[in-house]
Amino acid sequence: MEKWFADDIRENLCRIEESIAEACVRAGRRRDEVTLVGVTKTVDAERVNAALAAGLTHIGENYVQELLAKKPLLNLDGVSLELIGHLQTNKVKQVLPQVDRIQSVDSLRLASAISKAAVNVGKTASVLVEVNIGEEESKTGLPKEQLFDLLAQMSEMPALSVEGLMCIPPFYEKSEQRRKVFSEMYQMFLDIRDKKLDNVNMHTLSMGMSADVTEAILEGSTMVRVGTALFGARNYAK
Ligand SMILES: *Cc1c(COP(=O)(O)O)cnc(C)c1O
Repeated sequence: MEKWFADDIRENLCRIEESIAEACVRAGRRRDEVTLVGVTKTVDAERVNAALAAGLTHIGENYVQELLAKKPLLNLDGVSLELIGHLQTNKVKQVLPQVDRIQSVDSLRLASAISKAAVNVGKTASVLVEVNIGEEESKTGLPKEQLFDLLAQMSEMPALSVEGLMCIPPFYEKSEQRRKVFSEMYQMFLDIRDKKLDNVNMHTLSMGMSADVTEAILEGSTMVRVGTALFGARNYAK
């Protein structure tokens, strides 16, 4: 039987789909150039399953413990499960076999640990590099000046497939300010793509959240990560 919240989640998903489609039209891009990731931190498994039943195909979790606890309860057939939160090196071994992609690689140490763990389990790890585009001290992500060097080093690692970049920009009131940082990310994405490094294929640019999906898509995002607009306000206290 369907739970009472399933309708809300289905409607939210429809609304988000509409804004993505609209932004794609405005940007002159195809709808299939943008993937929607539902962000499920603090969201219980039943609600996540409701979103999956409504057609969501990608989910992003922030915390390793929460991901491991929730995963067995999710209907993940054909769904991509991605880690989008900060990852500590000592949790890599545990989480790597459980996820389809890690979006939050932001240091050489972490990249090496992931590659090593991937060699051990005989898989290639799909990763994105997280850039601290706003240069905020409080945020995770790699300083942009270090991006090329890290990618060059990652390109030599045996079990990594670098698929793109991710960012969480600072909060800006104005739409133009948001567009400016997204556009800077897109330019870096293109510059790196032109360098044609081994094992570095820039096809995913993960940027845009509930408040700025439209701006992100207008500036070239290929993956938006939406939590609040899909599941409602998060309750961290539970
Ligand atoms: C929480 C979170 C999101 C989703 O944010 P909303 O504003 O709720 O859409 C996206 N990306 C990351 C990395 C997050 O931690």
